[in-house]
Amino acid sequence: MNEIAVTNNGLPRVVIIGAGFAGLNLVKTLEGKPVQIILLDQNNHHQFQPLLYQVAISGLESDSVVYPIRKLFKSCINMIFRMVSVESVDTLNNRVITNLGYVSYDFLVIATGSSTNFYGLKNIENNSIGLKNINDAINLRSWILQSLESAIDGSSDEEKQKLTKFVVVGGGPAGVELAGALAEFKKYLLRNDYPEIDSTLMKIYLIQSDKRILPAMSERSSAHAHEILKDLGVEVLLNTRVKDYDGQSLIVEGKNGREEILAGIVIWTAGVRGNAPDGLDTVLLSAGNRIIVNEYNQVQGLENVYAIGDIAFMQTPEYPKGHPMVAQVAIQQSRNLGRNILAVLNGEKSLTAFRYRDKGSMAIIGKKDAVADIKNVFLDGRAGWLIWSVIHLITLSGFKNKLAVALNWAIKYFTYEKANQLIIRKYSPGHTLN
Ligand SMILES: Cc1cc2nc3c(=O)[nH]c(=O)nc-3n(C[C@H](O)[C@H](O)[C@H](O)COP(=O)(O)OP(=O)(O)OC[C@H]3O[C@@H](n4cnc5c(N)ncnc54)[C@H](O)[C@@H]3O)c2cc1C
Repeated sequence: MNEIAVTNNGLPRVVIIGAGFAGLNLVKTLEGKPVQIILLDQNNHHQFQPLLYQVAISGLESDSVVYPIRKLFKSCINMIFRMVSVESVDTLNNRVITNLGYVSYDFLVIATGSSTNFYGLKNIENNSIGLKNINDAINLRSWILQSLESAIDGSSDEEKQKLTKFVVVGGGPAGVELAGALAEFKKYLLRNDYPEIDSTLMKIYLIQSDKRILPAMSERSSAHAHEILKDLGVEVLLNTRVKDYDGQSLIVEGKNGREEILAGIVIWTAGVRGNAPDGLDTVLLSAGNRIIVNEYNQVQGLENVYAIGDIAFMQTPEYPKGHPMVAQVAIQQSRNLGRNILAVLNGEKSLTAFRYRDKGSMAIIGKKDAVADIKNVFLDGRAGWLIWSVIHLITLSGFKNKLAVALNWAIKYFTYEKANQLIIRKYSPGHTLN
């Protein structure tokens, strides 16, 4: 196998797999420092996952939630980017094996994130869609719009009802935000843009296995979000598990036993699993396929290999099940690790253990309401919405993207107009149609 052509400049080489929140912030921490950074990603862009659902419901252009990696680091002289798919890691020989050859490292940082976990439910995986990347978002947008177009000429009311019944599985922030946005789509757009469809036929379900939605947030936030979703007409089913879906009928088990719901679209946001590359001993992986690390994000028994972000499973007394898989953990771990790598290179003996500073969590429901738990302060309504919007705009990459998103939100806030109802490529579950 060939070595990928990257010049060896004699500086210690840090290879980072993944240009998500963790990988990008590690590059920023090491920028201009005496190391050679090689950043590898299967895509040439960074994607802003928190806003994917807005692309899916035609609220934002897809280009405004992704940003080219090369453009982000055009003035970073100690970083080389390669768009490659990492196949495995060879920790004996300090090499990363990719589809285009291998790359040698002095330090390896695995920041490969996570993907949708269907927990082995093959039927559901084949007939529903996840929401983890920009392709999912564009495919879901097409699927929703195609269903509405088909519903116009559906042969019976039952057929039309099925085509316009959208089920979101998973009551975490991603599911709640998506269900709220779909309900607003129905409320404000269906009548105007699809006058041929009887809007009373369209139904949105949110299915949650827990006893409440947003279980990681305060009870107050959870109750408020539930109330708003109900007001928007979302059917929220708690303590309910999805068992099967064949593309027509969704089987759920809840307080009324086993039930069947005819559903045209099922969106699965109910779980994720780590994207651990091959080559690591299975004892280094947690149940959710995350890489087990110590308090310095170091992989057990491998002194120069680290994992950060969603892929890292660090157990601490405060987080016995590992840290939450959110952007703040990824960002804070990358900064701490960057400083520790520089400390190691400076010959310092003591490294800084990672301590998560939880800045709070939030979820938006519809376009004018949100819930936010920030320390002991609870915000909802317009205040929650404003803080959610400002924080997401600050975190989004690229000035042009910030401007495009802010403009889209401003227009939507006042007009309810959604400008991106485009079926650029058709979609059916399991494969993209051209
Ligand atoms: C719909 C949705 C909404 C969310 N909303 C929020 C929110 O509101 N607030 C919040 O804090 N968090 C939110 N999150 C979670 C947050 O986005 C993640 O915690 C965060 O992206 C993790 O960052 P990461 O760098 O670890 O992984 P990622 O951002 O997933 O990046 C991983 C990178 O690794 C690359 N990669 C993976 N495998 C390979 C391979 N084999 N070869 C090459 N490259 C590879 C991927 O292409 C990707 O660029 C949301 C997530 C989703 C899906």
